[in-house]
Amino acid sequence: MTLTCPICKVQNAESEDWCNECGWLLSQKAPGSSVQDEGNIDDELDFKAFLILPERGSVGLKKIRTVIGREFGDIQIPDDLNISRIQLALVAENGGLYVEDLRSSNGTLLNGVKIPPGRRYLLSTGDVITAGDSALKVEFKGLDKEGEESPGLYLVDEEGTKSRLRQGDNTVGRLPLNTVTLEDCPYVAREHAVLSLELAPSGLNFLYLTDLGSSNGSFVNQKPVPAHTRIRVHPGDEITFSDVTFRLIEIMKEED
Ligand SMILES: [Zn+2]
Repeated sequence: MTLTCPICKVQNAESEDWCNECGWLLSQKAPGSSVQDEGNIDDELDFKAFLILPERGSVGLKKIRTVIGREFGDIQIPDDLNISRIQLALVAENGGLYVEDLRSSNGTLLNGVKIPPGRRYLLSTGDVITAGDSALKVEFKGLDKEGEESPGLYLVDEEGTKSRLRQGDNTVGRLPLNTVTLEDCPYVAREHAVLSLELAPSGLNFLYLTDLGSSNGSFVNQKPVPAHTRIRVHPGDEITFSDVTFRLIEIMKEED
């Protein structure tokens, strides 16, 4: 009898505790073990899911379970030594895409917050997963526009386009890996500022702005904010990154 490793598919003797090839604990349930191994991601999701990798750009997810690691898995990031050999899995199930840390040495962060290993977290478009020194941005395409009106805090640009802010850290800057990407704005820094959305025990959302020392600065209601200092911002405020201005709005839950 042999045991097939769910990660690297190598056959191991039944007496082995750890996979000879990749080091996976063989008694550990595979990430997303409730889903069909060979399934197609399009059967689970009604949108296309992509990961934007540093230097490599956008990679479309094709499998129901995508394992990411330095040496093993479906997407390998060999040049980041702080990523574990097996780091994390992305699992599509019940119409959603989830991230799970696979007991990596340095952990996995979702929007700047470390996630406990072995548990799954639902992803939204714009989320940033950090593994080792690599930031991986999640992007969904072909979503219907209804999601734009769900309750939460939004940045609205001068054309009225809304970007929903995620719980945790939302980075703003010119690089495509930012949560809010301002690609065509030459005066915005590559990594300009962070908007941190924190849920207070009262259930209220508090939003903080930190300028990351950008050359052209950040402004709240046209007043410059000091670099590297957390400033609380409120719905209705005007937030400017260099020469790009947004209005912060809150869409409330509909009352019954
Ligand atoms: Zn293995």
